[in-house]
Amino acid sequence: MSDTPLNLPSYICGEAIHTDSKLSVYYPYDHSLTGTISQISADHIEPMITGALSGSSELNRYDRSQVLTKARDILLRRSDEFAHVIRLESGLCMRETHYEVGRAADVLQFAAAEALKDDGQIFSCDVSPQGKQRKIFTIREPLKLALAITPFNHPLNQVAHKIAPAIAAGVPVLVKPSDKTPLTAVRLAEVLYEAGLPRSLMSVFVGDIETVVEPLIADERIELVTFTGGTAVGKRISKTAGYKKLCLELGGNAPLIVLDDADMEMAVKLAAEGSFRNSGQRCTAVKRLLIHEKIKNEFVERFVERTKSYIAGDPASPDTLIGTVIDEASAKTLEARVHKAVASGAKVLEGGRREGALLEPTIIDDVPRDAEMIVEESFGPLAPIITVADLDDAIAVANDSKFGLSSGVVTNSLPAALECVRRIRTGTVNVNEVPGYRIECSPFGGCKDSGLGVKEGVIEAIKFMSNIKTFSLPW
Ligand code: NAD
Repeated sequence: MSDTPLNLPSYICGEAIHTDSKLSVYYPYDHSLTGTISQISADHIEPMITGALSGSSELNRYDRSQVLTKARDILLRRSDEFAHVIRLESGLCMRETHYEVGRAADVLQFAAAEALKDDGQIFSCDVSPQGKQRKIFTIREPLKLALAITPFNHPLNQVAHKIAPAIAAGVPVLVKPSDKTPLTAVRLAEVLYEAGLPRSLMSVFVGDIETVVEPLIADERIELVTFTGGTAVGKRISKTAGYKKLCLELGGNAPLIVLDDADMEMAVKLAAEGSFRNSGQRCTAVKRLLIHEKIKNEFVERFVERTKSYIAGDPASPDTLIGTVIDEASAKTLEARVHKAVASGAKVLEGGRREGALLEPTIIDDVPRDAEMIVEESFGPLAPIITVADLDDAIAVANDSKFGLSSGVVTNSLPAALECVRRIRTGTVNVNEVPGYRIECSPFGGCKDSGLGVKEGVIEAIKFMSNIKTFSLPW
């Protein structure tokens, strides 16, 4: 793909909207202009909602599945182009952006398969003295209209995780991607229209939060707001939304526990991959390494050695394993957290240097348990180490967080692994895997400040986008 700046519209029910109000997107690596997107205004809200609600095109299951399958084919044909747009918006390196295209293709494929399945249930009623000779049947009815709001850290896959389930469920959807990475979302919308999605079923736009996005969140005709992003914004949305379905997928602070019987090679690999993939900007990235005191020295030595191979640099270079974080301001915040931890007695063992939005993968040892870096979500390639005395101590530290999204434990002891599964209060506990391991159709989502317990993942998201109706017949 050439690096000529893109000039993209918002789309309202498939119509390209060009306005004078342009949002500019810059490449975090060198601050060159990646492109612009036209912002809609409050005047566009009404046509967007009425257009979506009046769309006559009810697709049957086969049609929905076909649209999703065709979109997947187009996306895979254009995967290099998509990988480059993601890089130029986010500064992520090509290893990550290609991986993300593959994940989004999976989302489309699983949603296409799911669209074909009828998940209705049948209840016989002659099963109790109070029963009758009847049967109760369930069907799922699509919601009338959904609003989806997405974050910057997976510019394609987060958007796919909102749109594909909506299409599979037959729900018209309005999508507000991150202002930091909206161009990939618009390109995905174009792919879906090209694949045959009736235009009224999807709008993709950016606009002012106060005058466009918040009125939409509050609008009673929108039956579901599905949001992925930070905890503060999620809580604000929950207040604005009022009486409607809410899916909130919020921040994380995942612990990776390494016990004294762990396979050390595996532990070091998972620590590095978990902490540094996607420049440490995954909601499930490892944010706290809880290492058993008996194996701490060996772990640290090998982890430092391994981290040297995670080259931070030009995101376009095939040798780069860590691109930038989303912008210089975020990199500076992370750098400041490292300095604060050091002032409280922590030691930087590897990395720590910053240039613009590029932050080296950084290992920090002996981090106080109440350091800002530990308590808050540090959304970048930081790997803070906390020494723990035993399994109970590890679980206590893991749970001592306002977040509850995901966690991991490295151990060869099945009883210890099961203790972690039972006692760690997160939506996911992975044994001998990174906290973030999942497939795109398995249930996904957290509790506490990470979410309300409503799950995503293609199958759960489809269910949440519909309401169950029952009907009964004499039998
Ligand atoms: P963010 O909360 O700053 O922004 C997310 C989206 O909300 C953007 O589109 C933004 O424009 C919009 N927004 C901002 N203010 C709003 C308001 N008042 N009303 C409505 N929308 C508003 O998040 P971010 O910085 O883009 O993304 C990073 C965060 O997302 C991290 O905390 C990360 O953990 C989280 N995240 C969570 C998951 C998950 O599944 N739990 C997945 C990915 C990212």
